[in-house]
Amino acid sequence: MSTLRFHAVKESLAYKPVHIEEKERRSDLFGKNVFNENTMRQYLTKDAFNGVMNAISHGKKIDRSIADQVSSSMKDWALSKGVTHYTHWFQPLTGATAEKHDAFFETIGGGMAIEKFGGDQLVQQEPDASSFPNGGIRNTFEARGYTAWDPTSPAFIYQTTLCIPTIFVAYTGEALDFKTPLLRALNAVDTAATAVCRYFDKNVKKVTSSLGWEQEYFLIDKMLAASRPDITLTGRTMLGHSAAKGQQLDDHYFGSIPNRALNFMRELETECMLLGIPVKTRHNEVAPNQFELAPIYEEANLAVDHNSLLMDLMGRVASRHNFKVLFHEKPFAGMNGSGKHNNWSLSTDTGVNLLGPGKTPMSNLQFLTFFINTIKAVYKHEALLRASVASASNDHRLGASEAPPAIMSVFIGEQLTKVLDELEGVTKGKLSPQEKTELKLNVIGKIPDVLLDNTDRNRTSSFAFTGNKFEFRAVGSTANCGNPMTVLNTIVAKQLKDFKIEVDALINKKDLKKDEAVFNVLREYIKDTKAILFEGNGYGKPWEIEAKKRGLSHNKTTPEALTAKISQQTIDLFEEMNVMSKVETQARYEIEMEAYSKHIQIEGRVLGDIARNHIVPTAIKYQNILIRNVRGLKEIFEEKYHDVSKEQMLLIEEISNHIEGINANVTKMVDQRRKANAIEDIEKRALAYAKKVKPLFDDIRYHCDKLEMLVDDEIWPLTKYRELLFTR
Ligand code: ADP
Ligand code: MG
Repeated sequence: MSTLRFHAVKESLAYKPVHIEEKERRSDLFGKNVFNENTMRQYLTKDAFNGVMNAISHGKKIDRSIADQVSSSMKDWALSKGVTHYTHWFQPLTGATAEKHDAFFETIGGGMAIEKFGGDQLVQQEPDASSFPNGGIRNTFEARGYTAWDPTSPAFIYQTTLCIPTIFVAYTGEALDFKTPLLRALNAVDTAATAVCRYFDKNVKKVTSSLGWEQEYFLIDKMLAASRPDITLTGRTMLGHSAAKGQQLDDHYFGSIPNRALNFMRELETECMLLGIPVKTRHNEVAPNQFELAPIYEEANLAVDHNSLLMDLMGRVASRHNFKVLFHEKPFAGMNGSGKHNNWSLSTDTGVNLLGPGKTPMSNLQFLTFFINTIKAVYKHEALLRASVASASNDHRLGASEAPPAIMSVFIGEQLTKVLDELEGVTKGKLSPQEKTELKLNVIGKIPDVLLDNTDRNRTSSFAFTGNKFEFRAVGSTANCGNPMTVLNTIVAKQLKDFKIEVDALINKKDLKKDEAVFNVLREYIKDTKAILFEGNGYGKPWEIEAKKRGLSHNKTTPEALTAKISQQTIDLFEEMNVMSKVETQARYEIEMEAYSKHIQIEGRVLGDIARNHIVPTAIKYQNILIRNVRGLKEIFEEKYHDVSKEQMLLIEEISNHIEGINANVTKMVDQRRKANAIEDIEKRALAYAKKVKPLFDDIRYHCDKLEMLVDDEIWPLTKYRELLFTR
């Protein structure tokens, strides 16, 4: 009998949900553990407060004396909450978050000690971080990178430690994290968008990029998850026959949340409140045991930090409820996977959402400007945008008829399609007064101020306009949103910059009025970018064929997609917009390419081990039982035994075939891995893993899953789908 599996099942059935009491109102809890504006007002001197606020709003440098004041107040605040340690909290390119804790404690001689935390420790730190991926930027003998305070994301208390959000850069200045390029991209889009806004409103001084992510995940009983080596080591099931019941009845989606999961969510949400993460919605997703959590959108840098923090927090809270959270994009075959929609918009410091239609023709022209420029940016850089969400685990999801394909396209809905069609007819050059009036009243004037029409949604689109924001749906559930957000904001920044140059040229050289010039440039953009607009069904073959005709890229695997990250166009783009130097771009590409190969290598090893050392021996054990049975029948029935043991004999043979199938394919896979590892070139190596190693996973799995259906349930070693899913 498979002891681990049955022990785990028994334990999971005996589990009693932890009772959760919510004593305080959420609004009272909100931000209690955050050194936010409100706390700063209480703790900082006026000078220090203004210094930090200026850094947040205008990117002004914080000088040393202010940093000293801030650090001292931060320490007092943290000590008042029982905190003893602080850490620079950052997001290295491993995809997790990193911290190195230091105590506030310092000796001052004479056997005495004090609690100390100075400006030095706040502003800059040198973690011993030589083991983070750096893509060759740092030589190991000079393996120094340092972290530097990001005042735009407030410090917070987490696990009794004061966490200071920081960037992580090499000594030579190159970014080694997700945050640094993101901050640069946000700065670029602010500059470019503000300049364009000023055509419409001279009062605009700043444009902020907003992000509202929606995190999907699975909750699996901790013991059951631990009983599966594949879940433990790769975050997904690499084999397992689907349960008799899956998601076919659609009875989980938006259904009532099981008690145990609900208790987990309650506690999680309380912790989120304390950390100032404004979580708002929770519901069941399509697959059993799958859920989604979404906050109110925030400034993009803060939202990215909050998502990273949340993912860490979820793991910890889940553990207290005997759950394991699976963030993997496809933890269970035959079941929907998880994504992380990134809802994105731009808004001004005057309070206008630039992607929301307004009430006047002028504000609608501004809306159309940002709307059309975004479409153009996506069109021009569609391959890069695809690359920004590429990962070994997201390859399972994109194009799997539950998530958008690996083709980027923009859905805008019927109403806006009509508006663009009409705008396309605008006369070249100067417009007559009648034409202008007609345009303003009947075309852009017709855009309703509320476009949030829920019926006009297309869930199969990778990049959809949803009334007042774009929703980037191809982002994977394990992703750090920093990557796609850096790309999206950079391409839009570049596009707006180019747009401004074109419009200014028409105003200056052709003597056009501002709105005429804007109309003229937008008209050309509409004509140029038709290939990226797609309103149809994004799932399935017909769109793949159509997209190919339109010249859109379709990179199904990560190694193929990643090449767009080092195209000349991308390198120039990041350099021009001051987001990444060529060295940084190249380094990131190398890190991701290597990560892909390593990921598939680990999966291959895990699968090989399970198949050969767990499944095959079990199959042989069962086969031996059958063989003994046939022998017994032979003893009893003598010559007639053939008739009575027909089924057993067939089973014995079938099992042998599957064992052979497993062994042959595992041997092949090991061989292909060896060949791949011998390839020097990182791109070719990753491609070998994608094209030669990974396809064998399916063949191995096929035979294992067949055996699961043949072998006695009592001796099957791996916890089955029906046991893993359907937690009450
Ligand atoms: P769904 O896409 O599931 O139908 P909603 O349309 O309600 O859900 O919104 C999903 C997410 O979009 C939420 O996280 C919300 O905070 C975010 N969101 C709403 N408005 C904006 C905006 N202007 N900019 C960025 N994100 C937004
Ligand atoms: Mg959504």
